[in-house]
Amino acid sequence: MNGLAGKVALVTGASRGIGAAIAVRLAAEGATVAVNYYPGFEADAQDVVGRIESAGGRAAAFAADVTDSAACVRMVDEVVSSLGSLDVLVNNAGITRDGLMVRMSDEDWAAVISTNLTGVFFCTRAAAKVMMKARTGAIVNIASVVGIGGNAGQANYSAAKAGVIGLTKTTAREFASRGMRCNAVAPGFIETDMTAKLPEAVREGLKGQIAMGRLGSADDVASCVAFLASDDASYVTGQVLAIDGGMTFA
Ligand code: NAP
Repeated sequence: MNGLAGKVALVTGASRGIGAAIAVRLAAEGATVAVNYYPGFEADAQDVVGRIESAGGRAAAFAADVTDSAACVRMVDEVVSSLGSLDVLVNNAGITRDGLMVRMSDEDWAAVISTNLTGVFFCTRAAAKVMMKARTGAIVNIASVVGIGGNAGQANYSAAKAGVIGLTKTTAREFASRGMRCNAVAPGFIETDMTAKLPEAVREGLKGQIAMGRLGSADDVASCVAFLASDDASYVTGQVLAIDGGMTFA
């Protein structure tokens, strides 16, 4: 893969799951990786940094709650001052608070919109100011297939992910003239802590809807993100790539 060596990549919510796999993959491709973690949970992030360093890569951990606008600006400033630049942003941090709509609380609606959509806006705006000046940059947003097709029990999550897809396209349009690209991936069901809570019967039912007959792995997502973040995707912007083993065929 071309074009990640020597670059600095910030991955939000990189202390575990898909974010950790993306951080490890970007580092393996030669990027120096800023591993973002939710304040107070540094140990997991330092584990990811340790894994990258023991494989010969470069990484450092940075605390910020992506729902805190000022903290996102501070984090971007810290990344640039300690690692030298910011060339790639992966907006990965996300949560679920599932429930049928009539029973969904205002708090569960707001928490998911705030983390999964507003957090993407806060980090993108902060990073874009740096990338615009450098006249280069690649942003990859982690959306979801449910942001395209909806999902019963996920009104908050599907609305946030659909919002991420709209935000991806607007970011691509606003910043293309500044040498920046922005794309999204839409994972299907991926084996992480987020899906570990699904009952076995639901998991089996899901496999029946997936042409490849299995859930995805975090590494399946990480390799596609690395491609979109790299110069190999230099003429790709505003796109949404489904990573779902053949669950949707839009
Ligand atoms: P996960 O295992 O639950 O990990 C989520 C990560 O986000 C954790 O590192 C978490 O930090 C971090 N995070 C949560 N809120 C944050 C905040 N306010 N500020 C900073 N970091 C925060 O989830 P995952 O399955 O890897 O999901 C990663 C992304 O992929 C999410 O955007 C998710 O919506 C998306 N996705 C997942 C699937 C799937 O099937 N798993 C499918 C489609 C899309 P803590 O460790 O401190 O909680």
